[in-house]
Amino acid sequence: MIQDIEPKHLYNEWKPNAVPKKTSAVVQFCGRDLLCRIDDNGLRLPSRAMFADGDGAFTYLLELDGREYYLLRDETRRELEGFTYRDIALFRTETPREIAYAAVSAWHLCSWYRDTKFCGRCGAAMEHDEKERMMHCPKCGNMVFPRINPSVIVAVTHGDYLLLTQYANRPGATRTALIAGFTEFGETFEQTVHREVLEEVGLKVKNLRYYKCQPWGISGNIMMGYWCELDGEDDTIHLDDFELADGAWVSRAELRESYHGNGIALTSEMISRFAEGREHESV
Ligand SMILES: [Zn+2]
Repeated sequence: MIQDIEPKHLYNEWKPNAVPKKTSAVVQFCGRDLLCRIDDNGLRLPSRAMFADGDGAFTYLLELDGREYYLLRDETRRELEGFTYRDIALFRTETPREIAYAAVSAWHLCSWYRDTKFCGRCGAAMEHDEKERMMHCPKCGNMVFPRINPSVIVAVTHGDYLLLTQYANRPGATRTALIAGFTEFGETFEQTVHREVLEEVGLKVKNLRYYKCQPWGISGNIMMGYWCELDGEDDTIHLDDFELADGAWVSRAELRESYHGNGIALTSEMISRFAEGREHESV
């Protein structure tokens, strides 16, 4: 999965006194587009030295491979030789994996900083806290921490069959998704699983087993992966056609034959695992 970069490690701790060095990486977005370079060595980010001395405000993001990453919060388009702007969806395809992961994690934080410029309670301009990664309001004391949206990914199995779906209203979507949805207020992850499966395909499930989770920075989510089994013998799918364009039971044999995972997403790992007959292995 995208976050599996061992033995490397992405250090996400806030550093109160961090100041960019000339070699520090600079992450700058223009809308959804990331300023970067993709060549034979893969994805690369510009360093601080490539920007003018007095350029913009840099906010410390993370550390990877001994290099600190800073967000340039001024989103004015820059002209840097050899660098260009690419949609952040590049994290799905580009390598090295750890830099793609750092970029999409930076996007997560960038989105949050964009949305917390002003206090939602009193409207005053927010300030960055010195001790932790948090925006606080100097006027009313409101504290806002990075937003992470909890959600579930659900692999519903029925013997040698796995329930696959296809999102509606997404150009290019194919039937390679699992049931997924956001956790509502006052709800446990297990209740989300039951509710989402019932809402999206009209089925009841049992024997829920937590698998793994995945931070999904592109949309600011943390996704909890669950296995579960169809409860009963009636496997008739009643599709929620607002959310889904298709839903079907796909056999393990067919998946083994035709499914190729992307190695990035939790969904992909779970489908591949089922194809290999390893859904009951402990992790
Ligand atoms: Zn306020």
